[in-house]
Amino acid sequence: MSDLNTAMIEKYRNSFLKEVEANVEEGDWVKMCMQCGVCSGSCPLGPHWEHPPQEIFMMIRAGKRDEVLQSDAMWMCTSCYNCIVRCPRELPITHIMHGLAHYAKRLGLAPKNQPTAKFAQLFWDNLVKSGRVNELKLGLSLYFMNGFGEGIKTSLKMKNIGLGMVKTKRMNPMEILGGHGVKDKSGLQKILNKAREIEEAKAQGA
Ligand code: SF4
Ligand code: SF4
Repeated sequence: MSDLNTAMIEKYRNSFLKEVEANVEEGDWVKMCMQCGVCSGSCPLGPHWEHPPQEIFMMIRAGKRDEVLQSDAMWMCTSCYNCIVRCPRELPITHIMHGLAHYAKRLGLAPKNQPTAKFAQLFWDNLVKSGRVNELKLGLSLYFMNGFGEGIKTSLKMKNIGLGMVKTKRMNPMEILGGHGVKDKSGLQKILNKAREIEEAKAQGA
């Protein structure tokens, strides 16, 4: 268990709802849910959810911290916004689901092999180096995220699409050497470090 997770459990020992309100994007909306189930019924993922949004909100209020934060439910949300436009209480459901995923990740509780969580990490690692996404490297890291053999198989399967993209100048193979980035890379790293510092201080209640 991470130190941050331990600190959070200590701080919010008696109320997971309070913890969500203080730390999750739009988390203070959770208490407004009236459990009508419209969001869950509108979600195109339907039966594929481990816990649809209405259930997640009920579990938060019931203090089921581990079940919520270790669930892969929030990582399934495709941001289609069906739930938001239909919620009679106008809860920003999509943002709460992504906020919960982000919070679980910060605490080290996100499921390790969930594909969307893996993609989110690959995307961030790719972006953070130069301030711009290197699409070629991101594509390759996705192909190889489940191992070398799987990566080779996927690369061969996708080779015609890749070649077509190169021919039509939608992809530049030279990007493998580095590609575009922001001019002030050290400035970018300073901004990110400062943001981490602020988040840590907020988490520790400083
Ligand atoms: S539609 Fe809104 S009020 Fe109804 S269960 Fe979903 S979040 Fe709660
Ligand atoms: S935004 Fe997410 S939770 Fe809402 S309906 Fe779409 S997939 Fe489901």
